[in-house]
Amino acid sequence: MTQTKTERSVTINPGMLCQPIGAMQAVLGVHAAIPLVHGSQGCAAYPMRMFNRHFAEPVEIALSSLGEDAAVFGGADNLVKGVHALTSRRHPELIAVITTCLSETIGDDIDGILRKIDLPVALVPMHTPSYVGSHVTGYDNAVKALVSQLAEQTGPTDKINITVGLLNPGDIRELKSMLEVMRVKANILTDISETLDAPLRLPRPSFPTGGTTLKEIADTANSLGSIALCKHAGGGAVTYLANKHKVPMILGATPIGVANTDALLENVSQLVGRPVPEQLRRDRGRLIDAMIDVQFKVVSKKVAIFADPDVASGMARFVHELGMEPSIVATGTASKEFVKDVQAIASQTGHEIEILQGCDLYGLHEAVKAAGVDLLMANTHGSIADDEKIAFARIGFPVYDRVGYQRRTIIGFNGGINLVDLIANSILEHGDAS
Ligand code: SF4
Repeated sequence: MTQTKTERSVTINPGMLCQPIGAMQAVLGVHAAIPLVHGSQGCAAYPMRMFNRHFAEPVEIALSSLGEDAAVFGGADNLVKGVHALTSRRHPELIAVITTCLSETIGDDIDGILRKIDLPVALVPMHTPSYVGSHVTGYDNAVKALVSQLAEQTGPTDKINITVGLLNPGDIRELKSMLEVMRVKANILTDISETLDAPLRLPRPSFPTGGTTLKEIADTANSLGSIALCKHAGGGAVTYLANKHKVPMILGATPIGVANTDALLENVSQLVGRPVPEQLRRDRGRLIDAMIDVQFKVVSKKVAIFADPDVASGMARFVHELGMEPSIVATGTASKEFVKDVQAIASQTGHEIEILQGCDLYGLHEAVKAAGVDLLMANTHGSIADDEKIAFARIGFPVYDRVGYQRRTIIGFNGGINLVDLIANSILEHGDAS
């Protein structure tokens, strides 16, 4: 059965975050960059709290701090003063101005305002009104804004572009490690592996080392090709580069599990013209061995998956590979593309899957109760598993009721092994507890 967007006119416990938070995460993966939120206090305060809890890192987010007067007369004054203050105090290489519900509704012309500012810093406007889409849309818009404002054709390189979407620092490290084994150079958009999981060293640098450099973003126009690991969060940038700079593009799927990781490596291999090395084939074999080891513990268990669209569909394929049944595949972001992706998995695998898009946690809870699943895979907000007395495996963003999830990988063959352990242990611990 396919259920499209919920028909209720009220949302009960939202299943998504707002656009600016996705844009902030994208900007925090750029070296020496500061997101400047053009809005009111709460638009920066709640995302900061979310980042602190999930990544266990201090993050720096600036705010134009719009009040009642700006709501009537416009926020240009605050924005201009904010950009000048940030530049003189922090000396960033990039300030990304991220709009909010308020600044979009006022109608501030942030592109025009920023064009008139003459300072030694790159200024990139990002339009992220929260009455459209979700944090996933915000991430996508932000990465597209980066390449559309900064990418520049200067001559071909032997690099590829990879947009990573809203994955964790541990995932980006795993991706970089696979690329290193393949001796592939890549512009990673954007690279939070060091900026949101920074080593603690004294004296503390004014910006974390690491992150995608402005030069790398500029260079994306000259690459052999682009791959979006999450087409909903990064697909816009990859499509822009294909249309504007003729960089060949590949959209998804997120490399979770055997088939999707094989597809990624095959795509990389074709773009750079080098075979997949033996070391990665060994890792693949280790994943398959781990999957077989847990067969009798997980086979035929019914699973509900709740995550961002590309992670949810990638996870659905992986639990099928494990011999489990993806009974419910849900995302808080409304997306017809997501429905098509999961329908394709259902028709290829023969599973009866209930697909929920744009759903809230109340809708998810009702579906879980009706389907009677054994395991829920979701972020911290999926604590409904306790109410239903089913096993619970934490994935996605945010996870703040356990530690260390930002360091774990779910992608690639090593990520698959982590997931096998996570899924099997969640089922075993639940069985022991009950
Ligand atoms: S006002 Fe809009 S942009 Fe700001 S926190 Fe609320 S939903 Fe997000």
